[in-house]
Amino acid sequence: MKKIIEIKNLSVHYGQTEALKDVSFAIEQGDFIGLAGPNGAGKTTLIKAILGLLPITKGKVELFGQVKEKFSDWGKIGYLPQKFATINTLFPATVNEVIMLGLLSQKKFPKRMTTGDQNKVNSILKELDIIGLKKRMVLELSGGQQQRVLLARALVSNPEVLIFDEPSTALDPKSRKDFFQYIQKLNQEKGVTIVLITHDTGYIGNYANKLLYIDRSLVFFGKISEFCPPGKNHQYFEKSDEHIIWHQHN
Ligand code: ADP
Repeated sequence: MKKIIEIKNLSVHYGQTEALKDVSFAIEQGDFIGLAGPNGAGKTTLIKAILGLLPITKGKVELFGQVKEKFSDWGKIGYLPQKFATINTLFPATVNEVIMLGLLSQKKFPKRMTTGDQNKVNSILKELDIIGLKKRMVLELSGGQQQRVLLARALVSNPEVLIFDEPSTALDPKSRKDFFQYIQKLNQEKGVTIVLITHDTGYIGNYANKLLYIDRSLVFFGKISEFCPPGKNHQYFEKSDEHIIWHQHN
């Protein structure tokens, strides 16, 4: 299988704080990875290092077989923040405009919108069943609707890999399930590779094929089913999570 993201002996520091220590793993095309670990374990730091948003102290990040420093095809990688606030809460924008921005960021100069671009936006709006929201202001939408707009914005450039923070807290159970089913479909039917930061190691077992568990250094990377037997790894789970996982796989 083609390696999409390969991390080799990665260490990252913030001043004296070592946020990541000697982390190595490879994500293959078609993987659906749940990225878990306690608060402050370095999950966000790892994603930022992959996206080239912070300097690394040691080691290597390779994207689509190229070292990150030489990689330029960022349209292949879609990133979804957890909430709209992360993008921009002050800028009043419509759904259509926000999704257009997802295309614009991939363009070289001159950054002009074409009819083809609008067609792409329309088809992703239909696909995600939010075409009726096209002219609405994003900040007036519900949490579940905003999440779909963010997803549309990430998907409009046809990325091969999607990286995101689990939207769990903002969503009601039904929206959450719909959202997960949609990304599972993207993964299974379109082969989009998914990396999802999650706080719910039980829930993610229903969707992801692999678990990447970090606590500054790498604790576990492999099939979710192999993480399950309590004993070896159970100290890394909250009691409730452990309970859920144990039951799901028995
Ligand atoms: P997680 O996403 O798993 O909760 P983070 O990657 O956000 O963990 O943080 C890892 C560690 O790095 C924590 O100890 C955090 O306090 C520290 N850290 C994160 N960002 C910064 C920063 N910008 N400056 C200094 N320390 C940071």
